[in-house]
Amino acid sequence: MSETARPTILVVEDEAPLVTLLRYNLEKQGFKVDEAGDGTEALAKITECPPDLMLLDWMLPTLSGIELCRQIRRRPATRNLPVIMLTARAEDQDAVRGLETGADDYVTKPFSPDALIARIRALLRRAGTAPAKTKLTFHDIDLDPATHRVVRGGRLLHLGPTEFRLLEFFLRHPKRVFTREDVLNAVWGRDIHVEPRTVDVHIRRLRKAINGPNELDLIRTVRAAGYALDPQTT
Ligand code: CA
Repeated sequence: MSETARPTILVVEDEAPLVTLLRYNLEKQGFKVDEAGDGTEALAKITECPPDLMLLDWMLPTLSGIELCRQIRRRPATRNLPVIMLTARAEDQDAVRGLETGADDYVTKPFSPDALIARIRALLRRAGTAPAKTKLTFHDIDLDPATHRVVRGGRLLHLGPTEFRLLEFFLRHPKRVFTREDVLNAVWGRDIHVEPRTVDVHIRRLRKAINGPNELDLIRTVRAAGYALDPQTT
């Protein structure tokens, strides 16, 4: 791999032994590693030299992982930064809260380095430029895979990398109903295990991002089946 092709991972974690372990495994897999020991330092590093992906610990001194994630999602320059949360909390509610704050994925400690790296690769793939360059249009929404711009009714929308891929997938197959499993395989890939409810969380985020007040909900929930890009007119 050439120097320029190596993605940079910013590891935001205050436990030194874990940082050492992560650095060792990530570098072995060809990633460049930068580190920050707290949220304030992380914000400075992201501004100075934006990484390709951030591994973010939930429990941090000065600024929690959740709060840092919120701040990153609020800033236009960092809104689309891929984020994987590292959490010691196995409770479902906390994991979902992490996703709702804006993280793209989460891994529960203790985790195997191989599993984490599979998720990093999958997220980098989702965040990467889509191969097709033709504009996709449905109803009043336009998605340009080349520029990653999404516009609805003339309004520029801001989507995270996962929501972008989700919308792109639906736009390629309008009105077709997909199960959560279909969506997981198409958007996340078959090589990693993701809970089906993760799809629900990202669908919620996608709806929030694309449906303005008084606008038609473009995503139809099909009970006991899944989801479709299909405006709900009733
Ligand atoms: Ca910690």
